[in-house]
Amino acid sequence: GATGLGATPPRRRVSPRGVAGQLYFFEQQEGGKFWHVTDLHLDPTYHLIDDHTKVCASSKGESASNPGPFGDVLCDSPYRLILSSFDFIKNSGQEASFMIWTGDSPPHVPVKELSTDTVISVIANMTATVQSLLPHLQVFPALGNHDYWPQDQLPIITNKVYNAVATLWEPWLTEEATSTLRKGGFYSQKVTTNPSLRIISLNTNLYYSPNAVTMNQSDPANQFEWLEMTLNGSRQYKEKVYLIAHVPVGYLPFTQNTTALREYYNEKLIDIFRKYSDVIAGQFFGHTHRDSIMVLSDEKGNPISSLFVAPAVTPVKGVRQKETNYPGVRLFQYDRRDYHLLDMLQYYLNLTEANMKGESNWTLEYILTQAYGIEDLQPKSLYSLAKQFAMQDSRKFLKYYYHFFVSYDSDAICNMKCKINQICAIMNLDHISYNDCLKQLYRKYIH
Ligand SMILES: [Zn+2]
Ligand SMILES: [Zn+2]
Repeated sequence: GATGLGATPPRRRVSPRGVAGQLYFFEQQEGGKFWHVTDLHLDPTYHLIDDHTKVCASSKGESASNPGPFGDVLCDSPYRLILSSFDFIKNSGQEASFMIWTGDSPPHVPVKELSTDTVISVIANMTATVQSLLPHLQVFPALGNHDYWPQDQLPIITNKVYNAVATLWEPWLTEEATSTLRKGGFYSQKVTTNPSLRIISLNTNLYYSPNAVTMNQSDPANQFEWLEMTLNGSRQYKEKVYLIAHVPVGYLPFTQNTTALREYYNEKLIDIFRKYSDVIAGQFFGHTHRDSIMVLSDEKGNPISSLFVAPAVTPVKGVRQKETNYPGVRLFQYDRRDYHLLDMLQYYLNLTEANMKGESNWTLEYILTQAYGIEDLQPKSLYSLAKQFAMQDSRKFLKYYYHFFVSYDSDAICNMKCKINQICAIMNLDHISYNDCLKQLYRKYIH
């Protein structure tokens, strides 16, 4: 960020509602920024060819719908799409302190079409791409369920993939971080430019429902124990923590009563996040490929933590699915003094237009505070926003649902049942409160 003025600025109190000039000054002095990219899903087989069933392996024999140089909605990302996203970040003029990258680099193809070596080579390719385009940016990666072969089966002990990524990511990470990464696929590390800010990169793939390796284990790879120990240390040293991971906690917003993680693990994580909500200043995930928010409340219902799920770079969807996401990347703004989150800028690529013009015009989709009329990204602000979403005919919710698919379909309709699932997933992350929410909203709106 451009602090510009050198020495530590005085701790002036500036009202968030202050005059525009004052606010601008405040942001110039105190504002830090970081990028969040996720779910690149490179498909190295993508190529333009007359036979549309042969454009990409990730369409699994289906005919690509409208393939162009930047991709197709039935295919994972061509290299050119991924390059365009990092090129946009490089030339955006935004001076970010770091980047978080929450996993899933390989394509969605049948297990037998990949191998440990191809998975490693895709991750190596993506790492080299980031390192060559953004050589001065510190990047904090997290592993995704596709960053392993066979997919989803991430182990609780050291293996070829954990070892390979630890070596690939050495330019960004400390020795302490790469050592736990090699053992369990997770790490924590202080941000070089923000010494009282720690990134905790969790391997939530160990808790992902399809992971058979961890079935019936109470603490796979002792990650829970490590997490509590790390958060305790941060509390003692008065650090703040941004927690990053691939598979999110909480309930999936597009279905009913389904957690991405095994329910036992979800409850366990929620307990820890509640216990350390004074330390955790933000949580960032990928995996769903959609743009969504969640607010964690304590047992009494007070909002205590803000969670953000970032949309994917890949636009891929199944052939019978109506909706997908346009490719997206996002920028967070935070207060450098206490790391509380100020705002989020979501950028996207209109894939249809990019393919038509033969050039990628990444643009701003929305700014979170401005789109929804809130002050900042603090748990209280998001909670009151979610309350407004829940009101009948909320226009803000319509906007949220359009953004959920990264502006892919302005006609996408969310009926009452769909809306209830969305609202309850935003506001409730544990079993008891989620089911209470469903009951309440069903009684209110559906009877
Ligand atoms: Zn993914
Ligand atoms: Zn995933």
